[in-house]
Amino acid sequence: MDKCSFCGRERKDTNLLIAGISGHICDSCIEQANAILEEEFKKKNSFDLGQIKLMKPAEIKEFLDQYVIGQDEAKKFLSVAVYNHYKRLMQDTREDDVEIEKSNILLVGETGTGKTLLARTIAKMLHVPFTIVDATVLTEAGYVGEDIESILTRLLQAADYNVEAAEKGIVFIDEIDKIARKSDNPSITRDVSGEGVQQGLLKLLEGAIVNVPPQGGRKHPEQKMIPVNTKNILFIAGGAFDGITRKIANRLNTKVVGYQASKNKNMIDTANLLQYIAPQDLKSFGLIPEIIGRMPVITYLHPLTRETLRLILTEPKNAIIKQYKKLFSIDGIELNFDDTVLDYIVDKAVEFKLGARGIRSICETIMIDTMFDAPSKNKKEITISLGFAKEKIEKANIARLKAS
Ligand code: ADP
Repeated sequence: MDKCSFCGRERKDTNLLIAGISGHICDSCIEQANAILEEEFKKKNSFDLGQIKLMKPAEIKEFLDQYVIGQDEAKKFLSVAVYNHYKRLMQDTREDDVEIEKSNILLVGETGTGKTLLARTIAKMLHVPFTIVDATVLTEAGYVGEDIESILTRLLQAADYNVEAAEKGIVFIDEIDKIARKSDNPSITRDVSGEGVQQGLLKLLEGAIVNVPPQGGRKHPEQKMIPVNTKNILFIAGGAFDGITRKIANRLNTKVVGYQASKNKNMIDTANLLQYIAPQDLKSFGLIPEIIGRMPVITYLHPLTRETLRLILTEPKNAIIKQYKKLFSIDGIELNFDDTVLDYIVDKAVEFKLGARGIRSICETIMIDTMFDAPSKNKKEITISLGFAKEKIEKANIARLKAS
């Protein structure tokens, strides 16, 4: 009688029994074996730096270009940082005593200019664990919110709890400016929480062995801590640093007034002061000098111009207009937009001061009725005209549009 050579089940007890040269295997044993294989492959292949082809900085930037419009300086700095991160992880220190140190990066740019988008895009092409954390939820141990260690919990999760992989990972800390000390002079208003969080973060940036709660949070006090060494973890921080341009202007001005006032002043591009950002501005904003010291690479993002917004609508790989077209094409409908509609969307985003984020809500307002009706009608082609778009926006509740 035919039996599975692995579990011994008879043919009648299986869904399928496959015959081999000198034995049989049943469907459930195949499934089990497959699960074991997947698990093993996952362990072996994921995050194995030996397996990957190192992308050159220019190639990394090219990849970013597909998703993020402009912001060339930030892209360059990020590409080099990621490239160097890989090289550092692969370095062989036995040959000489030169040890490549990591250089964490700080991205400064107005909200909605693409900092998080850059981080998310980088994540798509990385071969090391990556996570994005929001600094606003961080507090010192004992306060309501998340402990600093939770950053590493996220990284561990991204690494499927492979500690060795997590220790080579990259962490993007969003809204780092929110943990700045509120006052420049610590003796007047001591904003303890901000500074405490910065001290905690400093430990991670410097490289330390940190005990990480694998489930995160304080809800599971019984969990066994996992020690994680942060020495090789690359930290990329981003923040809007609202109001920092005033500090930059002040600093530039005092300097300029000192010597050759008129000549230097002309050279300063006052429309985009962020490009002159220097460590002392971050200090006056309320970051402690030790933190600034641990983020030796500072780069900036440009405010989005009308031209950039217009490109963002249609150019990136997953541009919003492309997304609408795809949505409709699934129903067999060809969707087109008159060019004037696209200009109009940009006009409204600028008028309502909504930036790139607002583009989506404006598009949704224009498209909602069409998305509702089109699938039930038999049209093969739909073109959104300026008149139509205007009508939808003018009818919409502008206050809601502005708020979203
Ligand atoms: P930030 O993190 O700087 O506040 P985000 O990266 O979250 O801003 O940007 C918000 C959204 O705006 C993004 O999801 C993206 O759709 C769009 N966006 C912003 N800047 C760009 C850009 N330079 N290129 C393409 N899209 C952008």
